[in-house]
Amino acid sequence: MSKPICIKIEDDDPGYPLDVLSVPRHYEEDLERILIPGGLINDRTERMARDIISDFQHEAIVGLCVLKGGYKFFTDLLDKIKIINRSSGQSVPMSVDFIRLKSYLNDQSTGAIEVIGGDNLEDLEGKNVLVVEDIIDTGNTMKQLLTLLQTVRPKSIKVASLLVKRTSKSSGYKPDYAGFEIPDLFVVGYALDYNEYFRDLNVNILCVFGQY
Ligand code: 5GP
Repeated sequence: MSKPICIKIEDDDPGYPLDVLSVPRHYEEDLERILIPGGLINDRTERMARDIISDFQHEAIVGLCVLKGGYKFFTDLLDKIKIINRSSGQSVPMSVDFIRLKSYLNDQSTGAIEVIGGDNLEDLEGKNVLVVEDIIDTGNTMKQLLTLLQTVRPKSIKVASLLVKRTSKSSGYKPDYAGFEIPDLFVVGYALDYNEYFRDLNVNILCVFGQY
């Protein structure tokens, strides 16, 4: 699969120190630096929304949010799609669905995914499904989810992920839409957690996780 167009954050990117942007004080000790400021996430998300609308060409989409990490990106992407739908010649009707998966314990991928909640997947039969995910690391979670989704025979499936990690552990899976390619670091913020910590971290900023 060819690489999606995205913003590449290089391995030696210094990011931004915590004291130049806004980070809650109770997390300052745990975080190393800001990797992607919220404004850049916002702009990139808007462009991804435009690309999605132009690719789907008025065909209805079901946005499938992968909980919990994907919720912030999902709502922001949807807001952008709604704004473009209202204000440009192009528009796509969109409905929403949710799926909850668990694949991570601490900062290590456990390999197998577990569906632990969400809507009835059978409702996706015959629909154009846009899976919205926070981050692709090895790609194993997404590969397993796609295999599962295929069993309910959607019309098409595309995947939008805010982040794609550059890692030697990659399965080779690449999403159709990617926000940023990032170094092999553990990141939090913007609804990405560490065992449920940091979900409340400045929803607009992604921070590199320090010493865990
Ligand atoms: P994969 O199966 O691609 O290795 O992992 C996908 C899932 O692992 C993501 O949906 C996310 O929940 C979690 N994950 C992978 N890397 C990170 C990371 O750097 N930070 C956080 N918070 N979660 C991650």
